[in-house]
Amino acid sequence: TALTSVEPAQNSGTSTNPDDSTASLRGAGVVLGFGDHTVVNGVDIALRSGQVTALVGPNGSGKSTLLRGLAKLHPAAGTIVLTQAMDAEPRPIHSMRPREFAQEVTLFAQSRIAPQGLSVKEVVAFGRYPYRRRFSGLTREDHAAIESALRATGLNAIADRAAGTLSGGELQRVWLSACLAQQTGVVLLDEPTNHLDLRYQIETLDVIRDLADDHGVAVGVVLHDLDHAAQVADELLLMRAGQIVAKGTPVDVLTAENIAHAYEIRVDVR
Ligand code: ADP
Ligand code: MG
Repeated sequence: TALTSVEPAQNSGTSTNPDDSTASLRGAGVVLGFGDHTVVNGVDIALRSGQVTALVGPNGSGKSTLLRGLAKLHPAAGTIVLTQAMDAEPRPIHSMRPREFAQEVTLFAQSRIAPQGLSVKEVVAFGRYPYRRRFSGLTREDHAAIESALRATGLNAIADRAAGTLSGGELQRVWLSACLAQQTGVVLLDEPTNHLDLRYQIETLDVIRDLADDHGVAVGVVLHDLDHAAQVADELLLMRAGQIVAKGTPVDVLTAENIAHAYEIRVDVR
């Protein structure tokens, strides 16, 4: 496809080089809620280097909240630990400083914000914030990371366009590029194919696969389309009402019975 790969770039500083990443993010007994309202209720999840883990399940089952918890954007009970390298001790994410955490984990949220007065490239440069020093410009590494992220999402031709003039789908790819430019060992993506036409849905799935296969990234991705999830994922987690009701290979998880149970629909089993 047009999207071959995200070029590795050497990060300065102490960050994990995604190309030899052995990062993993694990949650055990994770509980998340809003006040008294528990929306994720005792989830065990392991995102492993070089693997794509897809989260599927009905609206409101807690997928986005779980991803936000893993990204340290929502207070979590239970244990969430990050392993930065093969021989490193797992560390609880709550003990990590924001800048350090942002060099390890990125989240593509369902954001449709169009920053006014910034070019596409300048928005993608937001992905470099964990590496930047105050009052200094973009380094060669920053430029390389931005360029490869723009190429991966097919946005290089419009890198200088004003972000405020883009379509929703283009804007979504701009924010995906910013996540790629962050070059973390763990990448979390919340419905990255929404609002995209078929071509870019497929190319986004290719980007996700390349992150795991070529760069050893641990990917956790929420997808609505079960066929897409089956196509891209090594492991599938099926959620229902804040819990994981099935986990395993796509073939094992996507049975008629599991789908009927999770989505509360009748599936004719012939
Ligand atoms: P999903 O991504 O699977 O559709 P969410 O994680 O977005 O599910 O939502 C899980 C549950 O949390 C839903 O019942 C939803 O109504 C509730 N919820 C989400 N955001 C908030 C909020 N800001 N305040 C209160 N409840 C919320
Ligand atoms: Mg959601």
